[in-house]
Amino acid sequence: MRPTDHVLVIFGASGDLTYRKLLPALFDLYSQSVLPENFIVLGVARSPMSRNDFCDKMKEGIINFSNLGKKYDSLIEPFLSRIDYLSIDTSDKSEYVKLKEKLLSIDNLYRTKGNYLFYLATPPNMYDTIAFNLKAVDLHIEIPNRYFRRIIVEKPFGYDLSSALELNNKLHAVFSEQQLYRIDHYLGKETVQNILVFRFSNGLFEPIWNRNFIHHIEITAAETLGVGNRGRYYEQSGAIRDMLQNHLMHLVALVAMEPPVLFEAHALQNEMVKVLQALRPLDKDSIESNIVRGQYTGARTNRGNLLAYREEKDVAPDSNTETFVAMKLFIDNWRWADVPFYIRTGKRLPSQLTEIIIHLKATPQALFKGQCTGPSCNKIILRIQPEEGIGMQFGLKSPGTGYNVRQVQMDFKYSELANTYIPSAYERLLLDAMHGDPALFIRSDAVEATWKFIDPLLQYIQTNKDFKLFGYPSCTWGPEEANQLIPEGWSEYPAYCSIEEEPKFTILS
Ligand code: NDP
Repeated sequence: MRPTDHVLVIFGASGDLTYRKLLPALFDLYSQSVLPENFIVLGVARSPMSRNDFCDKMKEGIINFSNLGKKYDSLIEPFLSRIDYLSIDTSDKSEYVKLKEKLLSIDNLYRTKGNYLFYLATPPNMYDTIAFNLKAVDLHIEIPNRYFRRIIVEKPFGYDLSSALELNNKLHAVFSEQQLYRIDHYLGKETVQNILVFRFSNGLFEPIWNRNFIHHIEITAAETLGVGNRGRYYEQSGAIRDMLQNHLMHLVALVAMEPPVLFEAHALQNEMVKVLQALRPLDKDSIESNIVRGQYTGARTNRGNLLAYREEKDVAPDSNTETFVAMKLFIDNWRWADVPFYIRTGKRLPSQLTEIIIHLKATPQALFKGQCTGPSCNKIILRIQPEEGIGMQFGLKSPGTGYNVRQVQMDFKYSELANTYIPSAYERLLLDAMHGDPALFIRSDAVEATWKFIDPLLQYIQTNKDFKLFGYPSCTWGPEEANQLIPEGWSEYPAYCSIEEEPKFTILS
């Protein structure tokens, strides 16, 4: 079923997210005929631009970044006919009268019935201002069974616990929680949703998914790229706020949550929140012994000479921002008591991947020659990206005489499941918000729980200048100190780049 007819109003429409992600995803939805019959995208930003100029720019974005633009290029022009642009000063309340008039005229022309989905793709300091300005002209008011008003809010949602609470309060002063869709595009990925199906549709795994059988869990989200031209943003954010507080915490919640009683948004989100609320709070001792921060340094590699983070554009030469963080954490509940979760994320690492590895406990006795002993003999690998899929590792008899054991891996690639198109995360989430399905969006109590967990770490970094920031050469797996977090070591991955000199690990501050 297609969503109800509506206007999608994107604030910050002159920016990078709209150009590279949102419009390409909308085009892909359009090509699959899943958008409403009557549907208009209204781009709103301060930059003066004619409708034609905006369409030209969006066309370029669609050609370069959509999945289906090449296959259905004849649909690009019809899609662009559904796009409009309005230049207003989004910080000025009085300008919203123009927005309201524009929306009314769109409703009259295109029969969009007063249904508006707002998308905040602006810098985060504009989120509350835009919400208040929408309220000033009553654009926030929805009337059930007549028309809806919803608002999608991009990450980052807050800068720390107090700013997240403040933002929640301010947004709640305008929109109800049911109208608010906080996006984490990781949850829009097919393989992330597949964690739920894998866990809860199989009798095979759920009985062993607990402290009795699992030795430890490892999550890696590695990027090969450096900070590029996003230095200004990243200096304020760092790996903790950019990746750990949201994407990695949500992966932990999905892997660790209890089965929901029903497969619907409220039940699902309740279980995710319970895990986040059960994270063992961080204190001085756990921060110092269980968390390693790093920042990439320059290196000579087979991909050329790579710059140090401190040499990147808009980065302070003495920056204390981490580009890598590794952490050991615990979930204090019955299912997970004392099972360590090891999570790490970083930029300029040797591979680009996101993976969750469940390490099962070994058999109590080793009966066979060559049998793997200790933990990690049996692994379940949930591959989020790339080559999305699931793998399992176990021992089998080597062919021939005797009983020699060999570790083998059974691999399932998601792309082999069917010859169907796999939608991008933004396609999935935009469509869900259009349908009014909040299941894959982050509820306010989940946001608060993750910030509550991370906040002591942020405060500790700020107040303890001697909490070390380790330098790791670009194209290595982060500081050596991170390797010592897991006694068994992190799993090894194929490398996209290799370092062509003796790596120099340093202490930056
Ligand atoms: P950009 O800076 O590229 O664009 C944001 C747009 O917001 C600008 O085009 C600008 O338009 C408008 N804007 C900027 N400053 C102000 C201001 N002070 N007042 C009013 N409007 C302003 O950012 P992105 O598109 O990259 O990101 C948008 C949001 O999405 C951010 O919150 C970001 O964190 C988030 N995000 C982005 C991702 C990405 O891949 N780019 C990924 C995940 C999240 P104009 O000047 O014309 O008004």
